Amino acid sequence: MTQSVVIVGAGIIGAATALQLAKTGHSVRVISAGVPDATHAAFGWVNASFFIDDDHHHLRAAGIAAWHRLAAAVPVSVTWPGCLCWDVDVEATFAKLRAFDYPVKVLSQSQIAALEPSLRTCPKQALFFPNEGAAHSPDLSQQLLTAAQALGVQLINNVTVSGIAMQGDRAVGVETATGVISADQVIVAAGTGSSRLAQSMGATVPLVSRPAYIMRTTPLPPMLDHILATPEGEIRQEPSGQLLMPMAVGHQGDRSEMLTQSPVAAADDAMLRLRGLINGLDEVQWAETLRAERPVPADDLPIVGALAEGLYVAVLHSGITLGPVVAELIATDIAGMLSNAESAMLAPYRPGRFIES
Ligand SMILES: Cc1cc2nc3c(=O)[nH]c(=O)nc-3n(C[C@H](O)[C@H](O)[C@H](O)COP(=O)(O)OP(=O)(O)OC[C@H]3O[C@@H](n4cnc5c(N)ncnc54)[C@H](O)[C@@H]3O)c2cc1C
Repeated sequence: MTQSVVIVGAGIIGAATALQLAKTGHSVRVISAGVPDATHAAFGWVNASFFIDDDHHHLRAAGIAAWHRLAAAVPVSVTWPGCLCWDVDVEATFAKLRAFDYPVKVLSQSQIAALEPSLRTCPKQALFFPNEGAAHSPDLSQQLLTAAQALGVQLINNVTVSGIAMQGDRAVGVETATGVISADQVIVAAGTGSSRLAQSMGATVPLVSRPAYIMRTTPLPPMLDHILATPEGEIRQEPSGQLLMPMAVGHQGDRSEMLTQSPVAAADDAMLRLRGLINGLDEVQWAETLRAERPVPADDLPIVGALAEGLYVAVLHSGITLGPVVAELIATDIAGMLSNAESAMLAPYRPGRFIES
């Protein structure tokens, strides 16, 4: 049955979900308070080599497959350079990922040097994940929204949703400063704003504070061919030539609740680490630093599912990796058509896990 759907949020989760729902004939409106959001600031690494548990790995691997389906249908800024990683226990991670049948190789120092000749010093060993990708995240939401708008999705920009309009136990729309926008189905994909919206109708969507800085250089000549996950931090070079580095070392597992350095000091430090890793950067300075709040659920795992009749939530970290697969699953879930395998994929992430019994 087609429905009128309001999606709160135009980051990757809201935009990808709007596209999926429009494809299946729903009438969709996306409401966004506007940038900044996490999607614009993301490092953009699409991977399943970082994971919290086995189910989370499988969801992320499905995320990579969903990215390929998406990129075949819509022009999106994603490339598949693969990742060289030496910020983990190489042997143990190799064994774990091989057991999952995930594409992974162990490379020697000379193989690493051949793949990345700009590295100042190469580690003795690194893992190579040939199937991992990099998305230019500042463009993603707009690219997905443009495709969704071509299918009739309407975007309401720079409008803040203040609460969920309820009739009894059922959501019937969203509240804004100028009144209610009605819908059969509301999807809260509001990143760090999701908690407050859920709270407005008495539901719990617990998020923790995970602020982050990310740093970019000006466009530079080609010097890196892969995503690098190093003990000094994660780095990649975009097709534009800009080098990009989250300023927390190991940003995917970063659990800091606050930023202790100024953006200038943090970017200067990141630049020092970059110069130590890569030849030819002595005269290069950082060009931009961006602060963002990462949407991180209290147990680090995605929160995806119904909060009430007519009300659904999707909030997660690693949304660049997971956005396309989560969007596909949400569209199927709302239509009540999940297969057993799809239900099992979502089962660990249902919001009901936070309800105290
Ligand atoms: C520095 C950094 C690096 C990252 N690196 C990676 C990475 O390499 N790989 C990866 O997979 N993930 C990465 N992430 C995580 C990823 O960026 C997020 O998980 C993802 O962008 C979340 O998308 P979202 O759509 O849920 O939220 P957001 O992109 O934050 O979008 C939220 C949307 O909701 C809107 N909104 C909020 N409140 C309201 C309201 N009340 N009314 C109306 N609109 C509202 C906002 O305007 C915005 O449009 C990184 C994040 C950061 C910050």
